[in-house]
Amino acid sequence: MSYEDTLRYLTGATRIMGVGARIERLLMLPSRQLKVEIAIEMDDGSVGVYEGFRIQHNGARGPFKGGLRFHQEVDQDEVNALASLMSWKTAVVGIPFGGAKGGVQVDPHELSVRELERLTRKFTDQIHNFIGPDLDIPAPDVNTGGEHMAWIMDQYSKYHGYSPGVVTGKPIELSGSQGRVAATGRGVALCALWALADLGIDIGQVRFAVQGLGNVGSWASRILGQHGAKLVAVGDHGGYIENADGFDIDGLIKHVEQNPNRSVAGFAGSDVSDFEAFFASDVDLLIPAALGGVIDEKVAESIRARLIVEGANGPTKPDAHQHLVERDVVIIPDILANAGGVTCSYFEWVQNTQRFYWSEEEVNGRLEPILRNAYDEVTTIARAKKLDHRTAAFIMAVREVGKATALRGL
Ligand code: GLU
Repeated sequence: MSYEDTLRYLTGATRIMGVGARIERLLMLPSRQLKVEIAIEMDDGSVGVYEGFRIQHNGARGPFKGGLRFHQEVDQDEVNALASLMSWKTAVVGIPFGGAKGGVQVDPHELSVRELERLTRKFTDQIHNFIGPDLDIPAPDVNTGGEHMAWIMDQYSKYHGYSPGVVTGKPIELSGSQGRVAATGRGVALCALWALADLGIDIGQVRFAVQGLGNVGSWASRILGQHGAKLVAVGDHGGYIENADGFDIDGLIKHVEQNPNRSVAGFAGSDVSDFEAFFASDVDLLIPAALGGVIDEKVAESIRARLIVEGANGPTKPDAHQHLVERDVVIIPDILANAGGVTCSYFEWVQNTQRFYWSEEEVNGRLEPILRNAYDEVTTIARAKKLDHRTAAFIMAVREVGKATALRGL
């Protein structure tokens, strides 16, 4: 997903709203872009040098908020795009944060755990003056999780005193929140259930396909499976497989967790497939839950699903989006569909601030109405203005960020 692609989605909304060129520019440009060098000692005594980014896009509605990813393809343009998506996502669900994103250009699978710890701590050294519980709050994203957040929290606290609220997505034992690990996938599943109901499709008859059985894809699959839907096609960096009768979802997730390659490939009792066949699967629902930019125009032409729910950030390129909308495929966009994660991050931050912790039932009980409100509002705008859900979500987000900006003044 490029920054330019995100801008196309943004301007799709701002042009309809008629906000004018200056406000459009204000909404486009990131507030602050940090690019840092991260030099660490590798286990063999050599020096490893990496590039890291933290980009704060818009802070009108509250402290900057967004994940931190470790991936070999991370660059400034991509982090810019993802930071901007976070500003719109937090506005769609109405939580009091702005948008940010971070990334380190590294293939984390080539580093040992100790090297990853040194990398994470050194990155924190480089950005600690620009993050903080009331300033900018990182969280997990692609290839990062609770242990990385624990290292950042510990390293940041060495400079600033004990600060659990500097990151979210921490382990439960270290001031994390119940329900946070499952929250993004839970939100994806809820959006899928609501959109299927709106389309008049009975969940018991649903066949679905998921790209990426990481944290988001696995929880979304598990919850949809519990509602009676059948997972018939999956795939990831290691390969694609299918099972017309429906996979044993728990068994498949266990296979991914136990497999050193952390891939679905090789799961017993499945048929081997490929990228093209996966997207052309005869399914009702498609959930891209891996990386950005996977659905281009060519892939879009092959898609047979009536509903796409975006678990990943930026999986659909603008031309592909246009093509799918013209074919009446409903797309629940990333800034709504995967907002369960950051919403639960907000709960974690609130609990850290209060030093008072909620049960899993309480967390899930608060998550669902927030997402439902956002879903209803986006759907209402889409119906009233005869727009697709993505453009409607961007209109809602721009409206909220615009209001906050106007009230605060420049
Ligand atoms: N990385 C997640 C996202 O893209 C979560 C961000 C957060 O919790 O701050 O929404």
